Amino acid sequence: MTTSKSRQGMPVTPGDELGVEEEYFLGQGAYIDDRGIIRSQLVGRVLIDIVKRNISVRHVKGKPYVPKVGDIVEGIISGISEDLVFVDIYTIEEKPSRSTDFTGIIHVSQVSPEYIETMYDAFRLGYVIRARVITDYNPYQLTTKEPGLGVIVAFCSKCGAILRKSDNRLVCPVCGNVENRKISVMYLFR
Ligand SMILES: [Zn+2]
Repeated sequence: MTTSKSRQGMPVTPGDELGVEEEYFLGQGAYIDDRGIIRSQLVGRVLIDIVKRNISVRHVKGKPYVPKVGDIVEGIISGISEDLVFVDIYTIEEKPSRSTDFTGIIHVSQVSPEYIETMYDAFRLGYVIRARVITDYNPYQLTTKEPGLGVIVAFCSKCGAILRKSDNRLVCPVCGNVENRKISVMYLFR
């Protein structure tokens, strides 16, 4: 059901329509009006349990979620130098509704358990990466030392095509270029 997917995480206020009674079982923070329409009782976000077909509204207090030490974030490399990259963090802990405007920084010493001479050997502009938060203030310091962390989408430095993962390297399917990077085991293209 595309409708339930698009409603997942949606911010709502009291009286907002969430669905119809044939679609869902009623959870907390929701009620059915006299026309059979499920509506929100609260200011909050829609939470749909797809397996149980249960819809509820979770109250959201105060400020949006901010990154905490230990969180996994995803972001795009927005700046690079020999020893630093800047990361535009777009999601925290794989929860898309928790979109952010936060910036992360990775120092070359935090890229890999192995020695990295220059950041250009690990990342390039526009790459999508997964990283772990290691400080509690903005800009957040990140690390990609773990096997699950690092690049998840990368582009060929010669022709711009999306690189494919082959063993521990990235290979361009268009021009055959091979690049060594700090690749996550969760790299998205094979
Ligand atoms: Zn290429």
